[in-house]
Amino acid sequence: MSKMLKFVDLNRETPEKVNSQVRKDNFLEIYKEFIDTKAKEQASRCSQCGTPFCQVHCPLQNNIPDWLKLTAEGRLKDAYEVSAATNSLPEVCGSICPQDRLCEGNCVIEQSGHGTVTIGAVEKFITNTAWDNGWIKPIVPLTELKESVGIIGSGPAGIAAAMELRKEGYQVTIYDRYDRAGGLLIYGIPNFKLEKSTVLRRIKLLEDSKIKIIKNFEVGKNSSFKELKEKHDAVLIATGVYKARQINTPGSELKNIYPAMHFLTASNKKGLGDKVEEFENGSLNAEGKNVVVVGGGDTAMDCVRTAVRQKAKSVSCLYRRDKVNMPGSAREVMNAEEEGVKFVWLSTPKVFEGNKKVEKVIINKMRLGEADSSGRQTPKAIEGSEEILKADLVIEALGFEPEEIPKLFNEPKLEITRWGTIKVDLKTLKTNIKGVFAAGDIVRGASLVVWAIRDGKDAAKGISQYLNKINQKKIRAA
Ligand SMILES: Cc1cc2nc3c(=O)[nH]c(=O)nc-3n(C[C@H](O)[C@H](O)[C@H](O)COP(=O)(O)OP(=O)(O)OC[C@H]3O[C@@H](n4cnc5c(N)ncnc54)[C@H](O)[C@@H]3O)c2cc1C
Ligand code: SF4
Repeated sequence: MSKMLKFVDLNRETPEKVNSQVRKDNFLEIYKEFIDTKAKEQASRCSQCGTPFCQVHCPLQNNIPDWLKLTAEGRLKDAYEVSAATNSLPEVCGSICPQDRLCEGNCVIEQSGHGTVTIGAVEKFITNTAWDNGWIKPIVPLTELKESVGIIGSGPAGIAAAMELRKEGYQVTIYDRYDRAGGLLIYGIPNFKLEKSTVLRRIKLLEDSKIKIIKNFEVGKNSSFKELKEKHDAVLIATGVYKARQINTPGSELKNIYPAMHFLTASNKKGLGDKVEEFENGSLNAEGKNVVVVGGGDTAMDCVRTAVRQKAKSVSCLYRRDKVNMPGSAREVMNAEEEGVKFVWLSTPKVFEGNKKVEKVIINKMRLGEADSSGRQTPKAIEGSEEILKADLVIEALGFEPEEIPKLFNEPKLEITRWGTIKVDLKTLKTNIKGVFAAGDIVRGASLVVWAIRDGKDAAKGISQYLNKINQKKIRAA
């Protein structure tokens, strides 16, 4: 314990952030890596609480105090193993979890007037050290089982489930409609938050662990859901949510108004070296344009910061509430402001105008009215408050809803909630259809990577229990 409790003498430090003028010119991750001594020093600030609120508030219940102590003692391999015991993608969570709302936001030393322990940066440091030293090896199960599991979707929920099932020896196949695996980690979240090499390295590990990944394979198109169910002993639906909410504003049919995922996917594909027609012909390239992004969540922040890096002439973010009420992470808003994004708070588009292509947005100013049932103040338009914003490219980032899975999968019996998410038993994540489970955003609605991992792990447990039960029945019957 002597190495710990240094928070009284040592100030909180985070890894150095690249200067905004430099980072605007590239898509590289903006935070530098902790150096060895800094990670150990910062880890030693932890007070090793009896009831660690950091762990309690982590969706994976990561054993944070233990791996901080091991890091402070220089036992990095042990620290990595403790961290990886609960988290399938610690390198991803270390980079893009909103720690300010989860572990770090609940670290008790903050309440005693000292800055929180820098948990996320230490998590990233120990995992990257583990990769660099070859401590992360493909999964080799103790026994190979004959049962197979089909997973639809290769995002964090599908990846976490696949890894857990493979550890137990199941034969796992992941199907994804995209040409690369990783879900939103590969085509949603931009490089400057999470470098693609981090995702590709993890996908290679899955393949080296003999997890089969079949790409360009859309369930409901390339095969029916029924066929998949017949092929596998259990199926997991981890398809995420992709139906973009749209703005119903006059003029929204004009050209150069796009949903956020079109813009981000094109940019991510370009960064991966693909030829992207809509980028090459200029429609999904912000260069030299006045860009207006509508929305206030993390997706909107990723769009504005991508537009800055594509050398837009100006980038504005329209949000109908104020800064305090933004749903996006405060850290990302600050990063965007530093990079020159103009925030137009309390504003909503009233009309898009232009000759075939959008040329300007007439905006309505808003005020915050009475609180609704959720406690949030409802934005109300202020009459006669119109303003004009020049716009050559408008990006809608208003959130996502589930696609109609029962219809797409031709499985009308699959039960969904009134929000269109798949209904599951919250403990086992099984659906109402025998042998079919669901996890991640398609169950929760648009959420976070860390919750998708948690669901993937829970679903793997549910699937394993289900397959074990069937086996026991077979043995008893024989
Ligand atoms: C722009 C953006 C930025 C974000 N930033 C953050 C962040 O900083 N931090 C954070 O924690 N979270 C962030 N999130 C949220 C996070 O990415 C998601 O919560 C998480 O990826 C959900 O994981 P998932 O596995 O459920 O689904 P996804 O990651 O969406 O993966 C689903 C996969 O299923 C595939 N699929 C869908 N339908 C079919 C079908 N019929 N057949 C075959 N395959 C199919 C898709 O191609 C996709 O690959 C962000 C989201 C977006 C959109
Ligand atoms: S809450 Fe903070 S001080 Fe307490 S165990 Fe967690 S990281 Fe350490």
